[in-house]
Amino acid sequence: MYLPGVGPKKAEILKTEINVVSWEDMLYYFPYKYIDRSHIFKIREINGSMPYIQLRGKIRDIQTIGEGRKRRITATFFDETGSIELVWFQMIKQISNLYKPGTEYILFGKPTLFGDKINIAHPELETENKFYEGEVGVQGQYNSTEKMKNVFLHSRGIHKIIKQLLETIKTPLEETLNEQIISKAHLINLDSAIRNIHFPKSNDLLRKARYRLKFEELFYLQLNILRITKYREKRLGGFRFSQVGEYFNNFYHRNLPFQLTNAQKKVIKEIRRDTNTGKQMNRLLQGDVGSGKTLVALLSVLIALDNGFQGAIMAPTEILATQHYETISELLKGLNIEIALLTGSIKKKEREIILPKIKSGEIKITIGTHALIEETVDFGNLGLVVIDEQHRFGVAQRAKLWKKNTNPPHVLVMTATPIPRTLAMTIYGDLDVSIIDELPPGRKPIQTVHVYDKKRQNLYDSVRKQLQQGRQAYIVYPLIEESEKIDLQNLTEGFQKIKEIFPEYKVCMVHGKMKPAEKETEMQKFVSGEVQIMVATTVIEVGVNVPNASIMVIENAERFGLSQLHQLRGRVGRGADQSYCILVTKYELSENTRRRIAIMTETNDGFIIAEEDLKLRGPGDMDGTQQSGIAFNLKIANLVQDGELITLARHFAREILDDDPLLEKYPNKILKNQLYKLNTQHQTAWFMIS
Ligand code: ADP
Ligand code: MG
Repeated sequence: MYLPGVGPKKAEILKTEINVVSWEDMLYYFPYKYIDRSHIFKIREINGSMPYIQLRGKIRDIQTIGEGRKRRITATFFDETGSIELVWFQMIKQISNLYKPGTEYILFGKPTLFGDKINIAHPELETENKFYEGEVGVQGQYNSTEKMKNVFLHSRGIHKIIKQLLETIKTPLEETLNEQIISKAHLINLDSAIRNIHFPKSNDLLRKARYRLKFEELFYLQLNILRITKYREKRLGGFRFSQVGEYFNNFYHRNLPFQLTNAQKKVIKEIRRDTNTGKQMNRLLQGDVGSGKTLVALLSVLIALDNGFQGAIMAPTEILATQHYETISELLKGLNIEIALLTGSIKKKEREIILPKIKSGEIKITIGTHALIEETVDFGNLGLVVIDEQHRFGVAQRAKLWKKNTNPPHVLVMTATPIPRTLAMTIYGDLDVSIIDELPPGRKPIQTVHVYDKKRQNLYDSVRKQLQQGRQAYIVYPLIEESEKIDLQNLTEGFQKIKEIFPEYKVCMVHGKMKPAEKETEMQKFVSGEVQIMVATTVIEVGVNVPNASIMVIENAERFGLSQLHQLRGRVGRGADQSYCILVTKYELSENTRRRIAIMTETNDGFIIAEEDLKLRGPGDMDGTQQSGIAFNLKIANLVQDGELITLARHFAREILDDDPLLEKYPNKILKNQLYKLNTQHQTAWFMIS
């Protein structure tokens, strides 16, 4: 069915720009905000800090001024209380023909203070009788791209299409939830929700519409995740690791370089218990940077080996995988356990040697990046997979792992980034959580100080002092997509400068634009101690472990988020010595940034920092990153903001599945169909369970 008022050209743009290909997609393209159009202001009342407002009046003095790119149209808009300037920079030809002096218009736009005068750029003007229902009260605003705007698919254009579309749909929209849920959760029906989300009859109905649509999204997300969990528990047995044997004990008694912390012991116990139940383990291990998660990973893998299985450890980057490989090779020295490194940059020739050995079981522990779970990697008998520092490794991704053996291998996900509970519920849903809440003994808290750009001389003295004591230093620069070129230049300049300031020391440089092998070589120089100063971008963010490094300077610290600063800082303070972190910023800072820097200098506690981070960033900011790891894209619900609703949706989903695990009862048919539809649309995990 064609959308009313949408020809082939607009249809194409809707498809490429916002992925709308059906009338249903269009109806689910919700406003991102609402504006109250029920009030009309007087010009005398307005100031430059108001949001979008409406005025009633006439225009005069329409004129085109300026040349070339500066060409624009201006006009004066007036009512009985005063006048204001209007300005248009685009669609100049159309505008000058469109508006007539003497006609009364309703103007809609955002006043801005320009010098000491207020003007309104690109206002919408309509004669009063052209208004249609739905535009006079609370009105939805739709996101639109430049390309869309060029064909009049601006917010208003979309509004009109949806309006016409809803008028052509005479029968109520088909329900997507069953009656029981609708009545128990006090929801309005779908038809009313969709109509009111676009054209709110009242503020109350808008609230109810949003509630219903959010609930529905979260409900299906929970239904999906719980259904997969139930299936896994029922149908997929887990391998039973019934014993602890020589692999574990030899390592523990001969090679372990230090006492485990109590927290590490506790977690190992939890893992032993989990893996001995006959069910598949799915555990999330949260532990601050430097809390010793690598060792927990290794000990868990050794338990797998003791029970005749292979183990694998997966890291997000090559550098990290390589470092794990090296650390673990070192730890296992003399124990005669064959281990392999498998990343994207391992040569074909080497791969051809490794892969058959992984298949035959000769290689007991495989460490690598995502390359590890590719289909070409065939394990002889994989029993446990550890996933390090990948805090968005959700059910859908884990489902891939489950096919790696006759039973799904046990899974341990490790992260230094604490995740809000409701969020964890949605991404991991089914995971049990362990926490390492204790750092290895003897660690001194990192001292963090804030220094302004201009006063950097002392800073280099501090660095030199550490180097003279035989320690190493990190100098970190931001590298952010949009300004990559400038940043790279900053970094190389910084590198040159550092070499000049410290002629007596060796300096290396690492950044994300380098080839993996090159990066590797440079990193290695720092790890081995051959080089004393590493100038780097955030590529060193996760996991890198050089205990001898005792000072980190973070340049342009104002450009980093709190969690990121904390992660970076965690690269120092890994040995017994006092470590330092110096945050360098420009002098003028926003309040928010000042707060971030202050928190960093006040605490080393990752959990406190994560909480503050969430507060400062606000939930809106986090959508993009939080979507990954969940099965369906969210159009209206927000995983951080809608915590209570998540809990409620989960409660309903659980109640239904407890009563009818396969959704076979008649009233649940609608749920099953909808879930199937969503999974097909998003190509997710349904196939696992149908
Ligand atoms: P993370 O949790 O950030 O991955 P790592 O596993 O890299 O932390 O450990 C950080 C450092 O602490 C390493 O140098 C490691 O050898 C050391 N470490 C781990 N456990 C202990 C322990 N129980 N006692 C002393 N040092 C430890
Ligand atoms: Mg780590």
